[in-house]
Amino acid sequence: MSRVVIIGGGVVGAMVAYELSRLGQAVTLCERDTPGAGSTGAALGVLMGIVSQKMTGRGWRLREQSIRRYQTLLPELTTLTGREIPHNPQGIVMLRFTDDPRDDRWHRLQRVREKQGWPLEVWDREELRSHCPQLESDRLLGAVYSPQDGQINPRALTAALWAGAQHYGADCRLSTAVESFGFDEERCREVIVAGATLACDWLILAAGLGSTPLTAQLQQPVEIQPVLGQAFRVKLPQPLNGGNFDPVISGEDVHIVPLGGGEYWIGATVEFPDSQGDVIADPALKEQVWQQAIALCPALAQGEIVESWSGLRPRPQGQPAPLIGPLPGYTNVLLATGHYRNGVLLAPATAQAISEPICGIIA
Ligand SMILES: Cc1cc2nc3c(=O)[nH]c(=O)nc-3n(C[C@H](O)[C@H](O)[C@H](O)COP(=O)(O)OP(=O)(O)OC[C@H]3O[C@@H](n4cnc5c(N)ncnc54)[C@H](O)[C@@H]3O)c2cc1C
Repeated sequence: MSRVVIIGGGVVGAMVAYELSRLGQAVTLCERDTPGAGSTGAALGVLMGIVSQKMTGRGWRLREQSIRRYQTLLPELTTLTGREIPHNPQGIVMLRFTDDPRDDRWHRLQRVREKQGWPLEVWDREELRSHCPQLESDRLLGAVYSPQDGQINPRALTAALWAGAQHYGADCRLSTAVESFGFDEERCREVIVAGATLACDWLILAAGLGSTPLTAQLQQPVEIQPVLGQAFRVKLPQPLNGGNFDPVISGEDVHIVPLGGGEYWIGATVEFPDSQGDVIADPALKEQVWQQAIALCPALAQGEIVESWSGLRPRPQGQPAPLIGPLPGYTNVLLATGHYRNGVLLAPATAQAISEPICGIIA
């Protein structure tokens, strides 16, 4: 059994803590705030795996592994913790537009997924209207329906993962900021938090945007940039489509996420920092997302925005997201960070990739 210290209790750190403790490792999870206080708490939880355009390589492998693991993970966590984790098992309807010059990519994706064992349906405009009559834009050519993708409440998932990790014996610490490290040439030996020193065989950096200062402390800086996203919750007098078929609807980066009871999350903007690295939420961009959503689904205009928020996505600089694997210069420090727009989706495969070296080599 290895002593594993994980820094960051968002969805990624919590998933790694759950899987490693389930596999018998001695896990300590350190979160400077509360579970999901970072990017995770702002996320919509859309799991766009099968309908993504990634067809081969690491991008596809991570998505497929994650979607597969989610199928077993949710019932497993609910049984273990007694917690219901709100999720939408009705799939994702990805919209197709008349003015998209690359629309043929959806037919190609359908053929590839068929061979990979993940069937997609490509709908024309009439099929889309019959399934989702609430969508009325003239720009709609049809949709791709992915029944195996879905959506999950990121905060509820993260809280359940904390509870599950604790069930398997993990020491999960709130309000515990990691301040510095004790390390020698190739190994991190200890992690220093307020009032305590934690010995470690393995150190996992799952601190999202907080990973940059931590890697600087370890003298191997990894740049991760904040990309802001605004989203909001809308309450309608009644559910769209009479509450019948109510999947996640996604088009041109706008997601309409059913929550039940006529409520929907809508988002999100993608706002990059200025040259100083600062990013401030732009109300005009939020309004643009709202108007895009109404243009696709006019019934939304009857709704009231009852809650709005923003969050910062962790986007690696100069490297593709996410960063999973050894921190250069160390044999026992692993990065599980920089998941940018897909941390909820990719958390299960990340935990699997992190588990392999740790559970294969007993330190
Ligand atoms: C508006 C919005 C919508 C999104 N929608 C989706 C979506 O639909 N699907 C999807 O897959 N992804 C989505 N994302 C992206 C997703 O939120 C992130 O990729 C994901 O949450 C990253 O998880 P994480 O655990 O790596 O980071 P975080 O959730 O940021 O967690 C890192 C944690 O580390 C802690 N920490 C930092 N430094 C320290 C330290 N020194 N000591 C102790 N703790 C520390 C922080 O407090 C934080 O809780 C969205 C993001 C936004 C903003």
